Amino acid sequence: MPKGMKLKSDGFASNISDPDDQFTLETFCSERGIQYGHTGIPVQLDTFTEYGLAFQERMVPELENKMVASIERASEGYLLRLDDGEKIKTRNVVLAVGITHFEYVPESLAKLPADFLSHSARNREVEPFRGRDVVVIGGGSSATDWAALLSEAGAKVRLVARQAALKFHGKPTGKARSLWTRMQHPQTGLGPGWRSSFYANAPGAFFYLPESLRLQIVRRTLGPSGGWFVRDRVMNDVPLLLGNTAERAEVRDSKVHIHLRAQDGTERDIQADHIIAATGYKVDLERLTFLSADIRSTLRAVERTPVLSSTCESSVPGLYFVGVAAANSFGPVMRFAFGADFAARNVTRALVRSLSRAPVSVPVPGVLTTSK
Ligand SMILES: Cc1cc2nc3c(=O)[nH]c(=O)nc-3n(C[C@H](O)[C@H](O)[C@H](O)COP(=O)(O)OP(=O)(O)OC[C@H]3O[C@@H](n4cnc5c(N)ncnc54)[C@H](O)[C@@H]3O)c2cc1C
Repeated sequence: MPKGMKLKSDGFASNISDPDDQFTLETFCSERGIQYGHTGIPVQLDTFTEYGLAFQERMVPELENKMVASIERASEGYLLRLDDGEKIKTRNVVLAVGITHFEYVPESLAKLPADFLSHSARNREVEPFRGRDVVVIGGGSSATDWAALLSEAGAKVRLVARQAALKFHGKPTGKARSLWTRMQHPQTGLGPGWRSSFYANAPGAFFYLPESLRLQIVRRTLGPSGGWFVRDRVMNDVPLLLGNTAERAEVRDSKVHIHLRAQDGTERDIQADHIIAATGYKVDLERLTFLSADIRSTLRAVERTPVLSSTCESSVPGLYFVGVAAANSFGPVMRFAFGADFAARNVTRALVRSLSRAPVSVPVPGVLTTSK
């Protein structure tokens, strides 16, 4: 996320889950004297990251900051190799890798050299773009955040999006919501409304919907939209090339040339020093290359995402998925911090149950096991 960004989710929906709901964002802000509101006051990225670090120090001091280089099956579970060479044997693995491995760049842009194209997730500072000609591609919150911040930092920025119009969250009115409005559109961690209420508060029930319906809902719910606080900054200050698809791009004479096709079929070329692809994330199990090829080929998948049990366990026993990779099973809430509470409690219950049983022998390819 770029420096200076604000979270789209409200304060009350940006808590990190702990068993007793003790260390909420509100508690953290009051301890540090930071302005906080359940709604109406956007959460600054810096506040959220400081809260995350404070949460880790207080609630999970045993965390080891290391990368898992590989995971393979072992006779009674898994063998993990860490980036410092350490090896760990374990019966269960919970993959909470978030969006880290799933940056998505459309094929038409993917082959551009890194000097001319970067995914929004690859950048943090806006300063290096001051005075440069930057095209931001995308129509969601990453795109609108980047466009506003780059424009304010003195870049010459344009925003290209396939949508004919950009969407933004509605600005809070600051007035208390009437009982009638609250009954019609209850406030939830995913925004107001009864559907959102179901998705936010009942991921365990969402799991029992037919698979095709779950996939459809996840695809269509909470599509690209910017935060309300960025609307005017984008609409007033950033040239918008809406309804345009970047069909191809190439580097010539130290510029990246982008060929755009509009919805009415008209074509044009634009040039820039750099493209920021704010084109989102797509879960794809094949991207998790630290999982052995054997595990990846055994995992049951739908649309390249893991098929999970009601306890977040994949088809490979003892391997669990939470976060965005679990969205097709438990719904859109898994894409947000608000979904972590359900995931943590659900997986913990399953792990406690599994640890009270004798270890399950996980068949290892190439190793013959004999039964007594
Ligand atoms: C621009 C942007 C804005 C967002 N705004 C919001 C918002 O306002 N509200 C909201 O709720 N959500 C928001 N989200 C979604 C947000 O990503 C999730 O809510 C949240 O980060 C999910 O947490 P997570 O723990 O599942 O994953 P992440 O926060 O992505 O954490 C995954 C962790 O796994 C680690 N990891 C990955 N692979 C390995 C490995 N092999 N070994 C060791 N560690 C590994 C990573 O280093 C990382 O620390 C936003 C996302 C983006 C991109």
